[in-house]
Amino acid sequence: MNKVILFNKRPVGKPTLDDFKFVEEEQPEAADGQVLLKTLYVSVDPYLRGRMTEAKSYIPPFELNKPLQSAVVAEVVKSRHDGFKVGDFVTGSLDWKEFQVSNGSGINKVDGDAASLSAYLGILGMTGLTAYFGLTEIAHPKSGETVVISGAAGAVGSVAGQIAKILGCRVIGLAGSEEKIHLLKSKFGFDEGINYKTTADMKQAIAEVAPNGVDIYFDNVGGAISDAVLANINKFGRVPLCGSISNYNDTEVELGPRIQSTLVKNSVLMQGFIVSNYSTKFKDGIAQLSKWLQEGKLEYAETVVDGFDQIPQAFIDLFEGKNNGKMVVKI
Ligand code: NDP
Repeated sequence: MNKVILFNKRPVGKPTLDDFKFVEEEQPEAADGQVLLKTLYVSVDPYLRGRMTEAKSYIPPFELNKPLQSAVVAEVVKSRHDGFKVGDFVTGSLDWKEFQVSNGSGINKVDGDAASLSAYLGILGMTGLTAYFGLTEIAHPKSGETVVISGAAGAVGSVAGQIAKILGCRVIGLAGSEEKIHLLKSKFGFDEGINYKTTADMKQAIAEVAPNGVDIYFDNVGGAISDAVLANINKFGRVPLCGSISNYNDTEVELGPRIQSTLVKNSVLMQGFIVSNYSTKFKDGIAQLSKWLQEGKLEYAETVVDGFDQIPQAFIDLFEGKNNGKMVVKI
């Protein structure tokens, strides 16, 4: 039998295991023009929380009682499709199923020898590209500038910070544990790190490690952390708005300072973006990230959780900060 995870109910607040339903179905068969895929790695990502609401967004909401989906690395185990052979590895946005069939649309082959397969869900996939394009296309870092990254020890943040270092910036990371602060400095080469969970006055703490102010703020989290960073923003500062995980589970609108006068007074550019805005440049982005990886200029971390049954819990754990780098589930 084939295990499947369905969307059981829309979460209110933080997602719980009740929001997911495990079912079994008959093993699918590949028809003419199809491949049978065996799931190897499943990506869990904060943006999936947005798909669990009914709100209109850049991607349609998940439908109740249908399988959830995310980026997956799978192996072709049967092929009746001319473009794929048994043993090929592919990625795509696929269902949370152990096995599934595909007609080949929306899946792309990846080279299992060039990089670890899970890397295609992280540094050579959506999160690496998000870091690369958010930073280079919106923030345009210049050597010597001060860059602050929130969610710094996560999949996007850890890569954004390293790219800023490669481009000659001074980089400060904000994250939620001492272990993560250590990782930022020892593995990813950040200059400074601040544990926002144990720091009473974030505005002051940022001012201390950024005595010349903040030129670029790569925002992954929003909320009070971002208020503290923006209180330190420099004239002509740039703020790529990548995500705001601190409010994804909110049931009420959070109140905070009005930001407009800070942006006006300092001529700050703040721009939201979705990585797919840059899809025509993905090939170039992957080539650059691969080159830096091969040259040893980029490092990546993964938290690999074992087992199909653990996918929902791994997703929930993102909101507890249980991951270092990219959270993936190995099937
Ligand atoms: P991460 O790997 O960074 O995992 C999530 C991390 O968020 C956790 O490890 C945790 O780290 C932190 N976090 C959780 N809750 C809070 C909170 N309440 N306040 C502050 N930090 C919190 O995820 P990704 O790298 O995949 O994504 C990072 C951000 O980028 C998300 O907001 C995501 O939605 C966004 N994103 C946007 C894309 C785009 O196209 N715009 C594409 C991909 C991601 P800690 O222990 O430090 O709290």
